[in-house]
Amino acid sequence: MPTTTRVFNFSAGPAVLPIPVLEQAQRDLVALPAVGMSVMEVSHRSKVFEDLLAGAIAGIRELAGVPSNYRILFLQGGASLQFSMAPMNLLTKGATADYIDTGTWAVKAIEEAKRVGTVNVAGSTKADRYSRIPTQTELRLTPAASYVHITTNNTIEGTEWKTPPDVADVPLVADASSDILSGPIDLSRFGLIYAGAQKNLGPSGVTLVMIREDLLARSDEGLPTMLSYKVQAENNSLYNTPNTFGIYILGLVMQWLKSLGGLSAIARINQRKAAMLYSEIDRTGFYRGTAQKDSRSLMNVTFRLPSEDLEKTFDRQASAAGFDGLKGHRSVGGLRASIYNAFPEEGVAGLVDFMREFERTHG
Ligand code: PMP
Repeated sequence: MPTTTRVFNFSAGPAVLPIPVLEQAQRDLVALPAVGMSVMEVSHRSKVFEDLLAGAIAGIRELAGVPSNYRILFLQGGASLQFSMAPMNLLTKGATADYIDTGTWAVKAIEEAKRVGTVNVAGSTKADRYSRIPTQTELRLTPAASYVHITTNNTIEGTEWKTPPDVADVPLVADASSDILSGPIDLSRFGLIYAGAQKNLGPSGVTLVMIREDLLARSDEGLPTMLSYKVQAENNSLYNTPNTFGIYILGLVMQWLKSLGGLSAIARINQRKAAMLYSEIDRTGFYRGTAQKDSRSLMNVTFRLPSEDLEKTFDRQASAAGFDGLKGHRSVGGLRASIYNAFPEEGVAGLVDFMREFERTHG
C-alpha cells in the first residue's frame, strides 16, 4: 500500500497512474537494480536506457499489435506540437488537408494546420455544441487530400469516435491523446497517431507518435531538424535528449496493461466503468449527460446538474469526500469525470454512491 492516503483522481490530465507503476518507480528512484543509478541519472546513450526505450517500444508494439511498417516515436512538446508537426511533415505543397471539427482540441489542430497550408474543414458538429461525432454521410472529404485529421476522443466535450471514418486511401491522422490504448485498435486504418502521454500512458512530457513508414518520405529536408518525423525516426527518438524518466514510466505502464490481459481486457474494464456512471446519470434526470448517447466517451464522462450553483456545491463536496478533479473544463463548465485506464473501478462505484446521496439531499 502507498504510504500516503490517495484520493480518487478524476483529473483530465495529468491523470491517475497505476499504483504498481508508482511503487515500482519509487523502488527504482534512487537506484535501478544492478545499475546503481536512478533512471534520471543514466545517459540516454547508455545501454541501460537503450533497453528501457526498446522495452517501451516493444510493449506498445505487442499490446496494440503495431504492424512492422509503423514506427513508434517518443517526442516532446505535447500533442500541441503535433498540431504543427503533422501538417509540416505531411501536408504536401499545393494539396489540402481535411480536418474534422469535433471540439476544442480539433479547433486548435485546425488553427495550427492553417498556418502551414490549405485546410478544408470536412465536417463539424459545432452547431450541436460538439455534443456528437458527425456521421459518415455528413463528411465532405477532399479527393486526394494529403490526409484527414480526426480527434478520436474529445476530452472537453466527452465524445468519441466509435469507429474511425472511412477515408478510402487517404492517410488518416489522429489525435488520440485521451483514449490511446484504452482498447484494441486497428493501426492499419491510420497513417499517423499521436498522443500526449499524460492521460493513458504515463507522465506529461512524452508524446507518443506512431507513423506509417512510407509517410516519412514526405518530411521535407528543409524542415527544422527537431520537427522532422524522418529525422526523429532515423534516430530512434534519440536525436536529442528525450524525456528518459517519462519513457521509463510509460514502459512500466505497458507492462501493467499486459499484466491485466492487454487491450481487450482494459476495454472491458473501461466499458464497465463508463456504463456505471452513465446509468447513474440517466437514472432520474437530475443529472444530464452533455454528449449524445451514441457519441459518449468512455474516458471523459461529462454531465450537468440543474444549476451552476449546484455544480459548484457538488464539486466542493465531492472533493471533500475524496473525489478530486471533477470540475468540467473552464471553457464549457459542468462536471467531468475522467476515468482513464488507471482509474480504479472502486472509485467509480464510490462516485456513483456519492451522486445518489447528493441527489437525495439536493434533488
Ligand atoms: N488533444 C487532446 C485531445 C487533449 O485532450 C489535449 C490535452 N488535454 C491536447 C491535445 C493537448 O495536449 P498537450 O497538453 O500534451 O499539448
